[in-house]
Amino acid sequence: MVTIYIGIGSNLNDPVQQVNQAITELAQITNSEMLKCSSLYRSMPMGPVNQADYINAVCALNTQLEPIALLDKLQGIEQQHGRVRSGERWGPRTLDLDILLFGEKIISSERLIIPHPGLDQRSFVLYPLYEIAPHLDVPGCGLLKTLIDGCDQTGLERIHSA
Ligand code: ATP
Ligand code: MG
Ligand code: MG
Repeated sequence: MVTIYIGIGSNLNDPVQQVNQAITELAQITNSEMLKCSSLYRSMPMGPVNQADYINAVCALNTQLEPIALLDKLQGIEQQHGRVRSGERWGPRTLDLDILLFGEKIISSERLIIPHPGLDQRSFVLYPLYEIAPHLDVPGCGLLKTLIDGCDQTGLERIHSA
């Protein structure tokens, strides 16, 4: 069993419902166990500005799955939520599930980069992650507390418990 963290985001088709539904589905992933979920947060869009605000959360799970098998499961859930890849980077989406951390692993392959790129600068990832794992040491990036101290919370609002 390894502890992994997943970042959830949505800004289309009732994002709060999309995120809550995704949390339920993550809890049902085979050979895995949900440990913790953060509150839900509202964040300003990254990249293209002519899109709705995002709802974000972070979950911790224990899993026996290999990283690529987990990615396949997450992409399957994104598909079930009707995710359409428009080609526009960071464009609007019904559901985004990113593997933030996979135990202590550092991975750099065609399909998978872990820790997730940008994790150390994204307030909508760092703050919910800090809520559920305040003592985390991020492989290759240092203490989460230090990352939080260097990350402005402007544009991020905690809305309610998951
Ligand atoms: P970002 O990754 O910057 O948050 P995004 O989430 O919008 O952008 P996607 O379109 O969801 O990007 O994913 C593009 C590709 O990223 C996926 O097909 C997947 O293979 C790859 N990828 C690489 N590392 C990861 C990871 N840690 N978690 C999820 N997908 C990843
Ligand atoms: Mg993403
Ligand atoms: Mg993604």
